[in-house]
Amino acid sequence: MADRTVDAPLPPGSVVGVLGGGQLGRMLALAAARLGLKSHIYAPAGDNPAFAVAHAATEAAYDDRAALDRFAAAVDVVTYEFENVPVETALHLRRAVPVAPSPQVLAVTQDRIHEKSYVAGLGVPVPGFAAIDTAADLAPALERLGRPAILKTRRFGYDGKGQARIDPHADSHAAFRAIGGKPAILEAFVPFERELSVIAARDWRGRFAAYDVPENEHAGGILRRSTVPARIDGATADAARAMAQRIMEALGYVGVMGLELFAVREGGEVRLYVNEIAPRVHNSGHWTMDACLVSQFEQHIRAVAGWPLGSPARHADATMENLIGHDADRWREIAAEPGAALHLYGKRETRDGRKMGHVNRLAPFGSRDSG
Ligand code: AMP
Repeated sequence: MADRTVDAPLPPGSVVGVLGGGQLGRMLALAAARLGLKSHIYAPAGDNPAFAVAHAATEAAYDDRAALDRFAAAVDVVTYEFENVPVETALHLRRAVPVAPSPQVLAVTQDRIHEKSYVAGLGVPVPGFAAIDTAADLAPALERLGRPAILKTRRFGYDGKGQARIDPHADSHAAFRAIGGKPAILEAFVPFERELSVIAARDWRGRFAAYDVPENEHAGGILRRSTVPARIDGATADAARAMAQRIMEALGYVGVMGLELFAVREGGEVRLYVNEIAPRVHNSGHWTMDACLVSQFEQHIRAVAGWPLGSPARHADATMENLIGHDADRWREIAAEPGAALHLYGKRETRDGRKMGHVNRLAPFGSRDSG
C-alpha cells in the first residue's frame, strides 16, 4: 500500500494525534494550539502530563486495536513523542491516517544495532560496535573494541538506563548481568571533547531546516545542560547538520529529529560520530522555545501537518538547564530570575532522575563566544 501523506496544509481546527503523553507531548500540544490546531494525545495509563493541555486524550494500551481505530478516526495525522511506540501500532494506524515519521523510522531507531548499522551504511561515522547476544560474545568484542567500552541494551534504553561501562579490569560478565543479560550492543568508548546534537526538520516534500547546533552536558547518562552557540567552528556545525540531512533523506523522514553526536579531536581535527537518533523532538532542543521564533515543537507540528517549515534562526544565545527531580523545587527562585524562562511539566510526582521541567536562560545574541 502506498504511504498516506499530507499533501496540503491541514487547516486550523485539524487534529494532530500524538502517541505518548509525556512532557514532549505536552509541549507539542501547546505548540499545536498556538497554530489553531488541536491535539489528541494517546497514551497508556500513567502520569501523562500532556493530557492536561490537549484537546482530547485517550488512555489506552498501544495494542488496543479498538481504541486505536477510534483514535485514527478522530485525527488528521499521527505523530509520536516517544520512540518506543510499538512499530505494529504505527503500522496499524497508517492504514487509516498519515503517520509521520514513518513506522520504518521507529523500526530502525528502536534497536541500537539496527540504528548504528543503518547510519554506518550511509557512510556516516559511528563508534565501533559489536552485537552481544550472550556473555560469550563479550571477550572477542572487548578484544576488538578495547577498554573502556560501553555496554547498552539494544532496546528500550534511555537517559543512561540499561547501560554499563566496562573499565580496564572490570568484570564484563557482571556488567552484562547489570543490564539484565538482555541482547546488547558493546560500543567503543569515545573520548569526546564535547557532545553536540542536531535538531532538524524535514517536511513531506523533502525541505530541510536545522537549528544551530547545541553543546550538551550529561551527568549520570541524563542531559543536564544544552548551550548555544556550541564551542565549535562553522565547518563542524555544517558537517553535523549535513549528517542529519543525509540520515533524514535516506529515511524519508517527516518531522523533527534529534541527532546526538560525539565531537572528538583527532590529530588537530574535530571528527563527529553519531551516538543516537531520536525520532522526535529532543531535550537538547528545548532552548528553541525561547531563543527562536519557531520552536522545535512548532516546527514538528508544522512539518507533520504539511505547513511551511518555520525559520530556525536564533535571536539569542541560550543555556537550557534541565530541572531533574527536586531541582524543580526551586521554581519560585527561578521564576524571579531575570532572563530566565521557566517551563514546568506538571508531573504528579517528583522522583530522583525524573525530568520535571527546564529553564532557558537567554543572553544577547553573539554575547557568548563560539569556536
Ligand atoms: P545514550 O543513552 O546512548 O545517549 O548515552 C547517554 C550518555 O552516555 C551519552 O550522552 C554520553 O555522555 C555517554 N556515552 C554513551 N555512549 C558512549 C560512548 N560510546 N563513549 C563515550 N560516552 C558514551
